[in-house]
Amino acid sequence: MPELPEVETVRRGLAPVMEGEVMAQVAVNRPDLRWPFPERMAERLAGQKVLRLRRRSKYILADLGSGETLLVHLGMSGRILISGDPLGRFVHDHPAPEKHDHVVFDMANGARITFNDPRRFGAMDLMETARAEEHPLLAKLGPEPLGNQFGESVLVAALRDRNTPIKSALLDQKIVAGLGNIYVCEALFRTGISPRRKARQISAARAATLVPAIREVLTQAIAAGGSSLKDFRQADGELGYFQHSFDVYGREGEPCRTPGCTATVARIVQSGRSSFYCPACQR
Ligand SMILES: [Zn+2]
Repeated sequence: MPELPEVETVRRGLAPVMEGEVMAQVAVNRPDLRWPFPERMAERLAGQKVLRLRRRSKYILADLGSGETLLVHLGMSGRILISGDPLGRFVHDHPAPEKHDHVVFDMANGARITFNDPRRFGAMDLMETARAEEHPLLAKLGPEPLGNQFGESVLVAALRDRNTPIKSALLDQKIVAGLGNIYVCEALFRTGISPRRKARQISAARAATLVPAIREVLTQAIAAGGSSLKDFRQADGELGYFQHSFDVYGREGEPCRTPGCTATVARIVQSGRSSFYCPACQR
């Protein structure tokens, strides 16, 4: 499932061909993804200029000249491909249409952006730009982890009364938006905090160290995604998937990477999801 860095990488890949550019034509090939598409979506998008392409949590938001904003969520299996890119950063020929190409945006500049989603957990919606933050998917989100609203005092206050394990608290999108399983595991490893520890039992000083750790793991992953964008000329133009190495995520039974630690990475299941951590380093 795409996490925040993958979504940000998709946004950065789309920006050069979409921002300031006009959607000439949009083909909507089925009535719904996870939810029905908004009424007359193709007509409401056609001819619109994309003023700004931004991201909130794991949602890509395209502010349009019409005063509406297009929300795009990749869900579990959503993929975005660029072809015919006028900037020459991606392959030039449009690939043959595939079975799960549900929405195809043809930009006036010649770029084609294809949204393919076999499992259809993705979503698209249209809303008034001025009221975008009231959208049901966005209204309850907490601060962006890389934004100014998130910080040590905010996080310490949010964790103080939480009786849940810190792992679950950090996955709560009201505490911090867009953090998923992988990057929570990685941030906890960097701070030496066990995923099992109750949030309210963590001292303010230790909890505060989570803020730079969260920012660091996300920023490094976004940087890895950014360098993956440079390799797309030979690739198929698919955005957002890149090789990135993790310290604990997916490394059950492998040696801990902390210098001098002889323990191996453990995996436990919390709220139905795997937590990877070092039982020796993380307390
Ligand atoms: Zn260790």
